[in-house]
Amino acid sequence: MAKVIIVGAGPAGIMAALSASKNNEVILIERNNEIGKKLKLTGGGRCNITNNRDIEEFFEKIVTNKKFLYSALYTFSNISLLDYFSSKGLEYKVEYDQKVFTKSDKADEVIEIFKRDLMKNDVKIYYNTKINDLIVEENTVKGVVTDEGKEIFADKVIITTGGKSYPTTGSDGSMFDILKRHGHMINTLYPALIPLVIKEGFIKNLQGIAMKEVIISTMIKKKKIERQGDMIFTHFGISGPGVLKFSSYINKILKDREVEIKIDFLPEISRDELSNIIRGNKSILNNLKQYLPQNFIKEILNILTLNEVRVSELRKEDELKLIQYIKEMNLTVEDTITIKGAMVTSGGVSVKEINSSTMESKIIKNLFFAGEVIDIDAETGGYNLQMAFSTGYLAGMQE
Ligand SMILES: Cc1cc2nc3c(=O)[nH]c(=O)nc-3n(C[C@H](O)[C@H](O)[C@H](O)COP(=O)(O)OP(=O)(O)OC[C@H]3O[C@@H](n4cnc5c(N)ncnc54)[C@H](O)[C@@H]3O)c2cc1C
Repeated sequence: MAKVIIVGAGPAGIMAALSASKNNEVILIERNNEIGKKLKLTGGGRCNITNNRDIEEFFEKIVTNKKFLYSALYTFSNISLLDYFSSKGLEYKVEYDQKVFTKSDKADEVIEIFKRDLMKNDVKIYYNTKINDLIVEENTVKGVVTDEGKEIFADKVIITTGGKSYPTTGSDGSMFDILKRHGHMINTLYPALIPLVIKEGFIKNLQGIAMKEVIISTMIKKKKIERQGDMIFTHFGISGPGVLKFSSYINKILKDREVEIKIDFLPEISRDELSNIIRGNKSILNNLKQYLPQNFIKEILNILTLNEVRVSELRKEDELKLIQYIKEMNLTVEDTITIKGAMVTSGGVSVKEINSSTMESKIIKNLFFAGEVIDIDAETGGYNLQMAFSTGYLAGMQE
């Protein structure tokens, strides 16, 4: 029986351990005193296990290196994952945007299933053990070294240490330096699925206002990027699911320059319809409050110094300005918040150096990768977890 070491007990590492333990002796090494610390945070603590979309549509939600993921996602798809959970007795539900959650809304249920299954498969878990180096001889991995200097040897090593965001969960990006030292190319790390910092000062006055199903757009290299979802104004800019999704498409550009964006707060209503609504009755505020939060309208009227103006006094040019603020608010994105606050890390081990059919390194024999440590990332909605499970499964099943 071959011996397999897996470094990192997040979703990728757990699935790799379950898949590898069918034919191998497996040691799962985790620096925390528990498995799946970040997994427990997903879906607002309810565990957004995966997304129920058809696999073809699923690929459209992958932002970075979707082609690299074909083998992994077709070998162990979202359906395979849900079948696995069903076979273990987990009840789940599908919510808005095809997001899948535990029926009980409890992430702990998923963790308990994994713990039981790992135990059943005789996977040894070394908790509170941080890996600080790899043992590599003649371009072949032979094992790992703990931060206490202990060497552990194996026939195969799978790296599932995650990205660099939310470092208190254990994924602090320290493995990237180790891999770089051993010759692997690490693509620049960017925060993804992250709130955006806005330049315009008036944004602070809108702090705390939540908007439903807005459309955020920009032009990048003559191509329109557009994402829809809920958002919230914050003291530094904008956040919320729609903003997080959108952020993954501009994070790399923000390194070099600001990005001009437009927000449509009433995408279902045309400019002409909006003009009729604004001019419906005597008060602009009353006319709009059925469609937009009252404090939002008040603030926009304030900015345009229209708060005292009655509909009968509203000049056409001011009406157009008001429509502009509602249908096409122009904002300048200066930055994202720091990578520590990103849901996901974009960048990581270059896919050019990983065999996509096996997840094995092309640089170091018997070394494999899975999950967020690889340069892959997707939108919010369960896609990132599925990518971790699928790549973990594929890496684990290789003899
Ligand atoms: C707040 C939040 C909400 C999220 N919500 C969603 C969501 O709703 N849907 C979704 O699909 N995704 C979501 N994600 C993203 C998702 O959680 C990650 O993409 C996923 O956990 C990545 O899995 P992984 O196994 O690759 O890495 P991780 O889950 O980061 O696991 C890596 C593990 O490796 C361990 N480790 C790291 N370095 C070492 C070392 N040197 N030695 C030993 N152990 C080490 C870490 O302690 C950690 O346990 C969310 C993330 C966050 C932070």
